[in-house]
Amino acid sequence: MHHPKITYAFTALSLCVPALPAQNADATRNDPRVRAALDSIRAHNAWTLAQQISICQIPAPPFKEAQRAQELRRRFVAFGLAKVRIDSEGNVIGERTGTGKGPTVVISGHLDTVFPEGTKVTVKRTGTRLAGPGIGDDCRGLAVLLAVARAFNEVKLREPGTIYFVGTVGEEGAGNLRGVRHLFSKEMKDRIDYFISVDGIGLGITSRAVGSHRYRVSYQGPGGHSYGSFGMPNPIHALGRAIAAISELRVPANPKTTFSVGIVSGGTSVNSISSDATMEVDLRSESAEALETLDAQFQQAVQSALASERARWPESKVRLTVKLDTMGIRPAGGQADSARIVRVAQDAQRALGITVGRTEASSTDANIPIGIGIPAITIDGGGTGGGAHSLTEWYDDGVKGFLGPQWAALIVAMLAGRE
Ligand SMILES: [Zn+2]
Repeated sequence: MHHPKITYAFTALSLCVPALPAQNADATRNDPRVRAALDSIRAHNAWTLAQQISICQIPAPPFKEAQRAQELRRRFVAFGLAKVRIDSEGNVIGERTGTGKGPTVVISGHLDTVFPEGTKVTVKRTGTRLAGPGIGDDCRGLAVLLAVARAFNEVKLREPGTIYFVGTVGEEGAGNLRGVRHLFSKEMKDRIDYFISVDGIGLGITSRAVGSHRYRVSYQGPGGHSYGSFGMPNPIHALGRAIAAISELRVPANPKTTFSVGIVSGGTSVNSISSDATMEVDLRSESAEALETLDAQFQQAVQSALASERARWPESKVRLTVKLDTMGIRPAGGQADSARIVRVAQDAQRALGITVGRTEASSTDANIPIGIGIPAITIDGGGTGGGAHSLTEWYDDGVKGFLGPQWAALIVAMLAGRE
């Protein structure tokens, strides 16, 4: 039950970035090679959709992304990326090597889906609409990566900085961001200047990381007969006390901070005192500080419930304990809208005629770099869609789906050094 102290990189980030004139996006876009890459993306839009469908028809359940990873690796090689490899955690990495000293930029999408083994992953296509598990989240992101890689290769675009293309493992749920964690703690530790995750439908920017703490809490005792052993602490009753206390917690609306007991389990039979009662709890906030406060209140509720249930049966010598396991910790944090990476993404939106909306907060692969002060955003991959994490997930490319990969291409071209 240890969790890292999150340090905010807010001030450092906004102080050390040079001012970026607004015309840079246009200058980059008007560079002949970048222009040609953007044109190529548009011209090859049908190809991009074919990539999205075919990669999505390879299953990628949590912790079982290997088959899809192998195929992504094959395509990275086929579409001109250099030094393509799969790292020890399972991430697929390829690069467009830069010409010299420029910032290192990572553009990534996640390989994994939430769907278990055996899920039917056939994609059904009706006009511009595609339906199938994972088609948006995050087959769209992977398709965007491939579209950008192919176009940069076709026009032989070289930036001062090296651009890495990464398919990450373990973004969803229990994966607990294991792929991107490995990337920043080992594989590419201290080598990444900017990180872009393409994950989501639409054309929005996520610049703040919603952090989450997830726990499994188990109250345990010897258990016994409901009648014969009456008078001993009851793990299920202790759990009930804890849930009652958690449900009364007060959290700020802004920064948005939330809690939920998502799963409860335990019990042997109606005429038993159970030996175990378990809940899984999800705590979230945009603010690292608010999340720490909520976490402390939650821990307090868990311990008080134990104490109250013990105190209810002062004569009993029977042991009641609580076990608290960490299921996942994702750091919270944010960047000001004035951070260079956010402004670059917004300038690129303007240059492509995309409406600049409000920046969002979410829980994505970008949480890890944001948590350690490395500029990172998650961008949507274009199109429209819905039903993420459900079997009825769909994606519609509409008439301007190509704007997603064009936008991603322009952002990475700008960040890698064309200023
Ligand atoms: Zn996703």
